[in-house]
Amino acid sequence: MAQYDKQRELLEKEKSRLLSELAELKLRASSDVGRREGSPFGKQEEEASATFEMERTLALKQRLAALLAEVEHALEKLEAGTYGRCDSCGRAIEAARLEALPQASLCLSCKMKRAGDARTRAR
Ligand SMILES: [Zn+2]
Repeated sequence: MAQYDKQRELLEKEKSRLLSELAELKLRASSDVGRREGSPFGKQEEEASATFEMERTLALKQRLAALLAEVEHALEKLEAGTYGRCDSCGRAIEAARLEALPQASLCLSCKMKRAGDARTRAR
């Protein structure tokens, strides 16, 4: 398992980065609420931009949470000794892919197949 020491280090770093970003978002969201309540203006325009801001924050939060889940999953695989194997077909994930994306849990062909499936379902 020593062969994945670099990936483990990257994943641990990524995890703490994501956790602090999520914590910061939470902090910012609560301070935004305080600012709005203290504002004497109740104009529709301001409310619209506040809603937009909130939606953007929510989207960012969801993206960070999804990334965090992937990183945690990869760390679990490292613990379980299944790191580097595709979740779907069980074959080895390409080394270059793990270099570029340490949290990858699918080999390239399964990933592409899944992306294709998602597109088909969305239609
Ligand atoms: Zn696969």
